[in-house]
Amino acid sequence: MSTAVVSIPSPGHYYPGHPEDPARFSDLVNWDLKPYAHKLEWLTSTPADPARIATVHSHKMIAEVEKACLRAPAIIDYAPTYVTQSSARDAFNAAGGVLACTQAVLSGQDRNAFAMIRPPGHHAEPEAAMGFCIFNNVAIAARLALEQGLGQVMIVDFDAHHGNGTQATFWQEPRVAYFSTHQEGIYPGSGHMEEAPHARGRIVNLPLPAYSGDQTFSVLTQEVLFPLVEQRRPDMLLVSAGFDSHWQDPLTNLGLSTPGFYNLALCLVELAGTYCNGKIVFVLEGGYHPQKVASGVDACLRALTGEEPEEMSDPSPYPETDIRDRINHLQDWHGLK
Ligand SMILES: [Zn+2]
Repeated sequence: MSTAVVSIPSPGHYYPGHPEDPARFSDLVNWDLKPYAHKLEWLTSTPADPARIATVHSHKMIAEVEKACLRAPAIIDYAPTYVTQSSARDAFNAAGGVLACTQAVLSGQDRNAFAMIRPPGHHAEPEAAMGFCIFNNVAIAARLALEQGLGQVMIVDFDAHHGNGTQATFWQEPRVAYFSTHQEGIYPGSGHMEEAPHARGRIVNLPLPAYSGDQTFSVLTQEVLFPLVEQRRPDMLLVSAGFDSHWQDPLTNLGLSTPGFYNLALCLVELAGTYCNGKIVFVLEGGYHPQKVASGVDACLRALTGEEPEEMSDPSPYPETDIRDRINHLQDWHGLK
């Protein structure tokens, strides 16, 4: 079976000088030259049905997005999040691409998937677009998976920012677990370790000090992610794949390298193989260094297709902080030992 892929660069969703722009996709090219090219199935997708968007967002919120586009270009929140005349259409297309990938994996047509889409989604809350995000693509995909009969879904979010919108969507949904690693003290300000006491072992937030990198992620993968997945036994993994956690990202200061992304993706693919019959869908979130978005996506696709990682070394020059105490506390708080 193949790895499903879509690429939806949304060139009309563009605001001069804003980091979330179509240039993020400029190095996501030359797929035919990749050693795993024959293992990819490029899907054509259609815009998401409004009823699909409404499984996460209120009709009022969807109408507000469409209305804002009529007076575009416009700034709709302080992040700042912008809309152009085509942004609503672009957001429907992005969600549609993620749904096509998810459907292909749910039906067994493809083994796993990566949806390269923008605008991103994980900050978008049920009632509001925010944080460069219009519709919450990964949350909409999780709703589809539940509707099609899966009992448990887990969303793993390694974007450098906390996915407040995803957390808000599933705050009271026992069938969806959410695990987020993110840099502490930055936008949007949520994602504290003890933020969801009603959902211990289900909503798991691990804020990280600046310059946490490959070493930290290797430890937290083994000591938090593995026991969490083992405990939850999800039927599918959805991944909010944000490559702003690369140390060269211009917006944030986490310390992952490209091999770090590969190792993390490989662990996720292996976990999906063990617990989810292989079912895993990666969804692009942030990442503002185009070359590092491309090398990060490539690393994930190598993990998804079973290809060897590229000989590439771009290690962070910053020393990492020891987060042993933090991990111990997280394990205690969520009962993960
Ligand atoms: Zn981000």
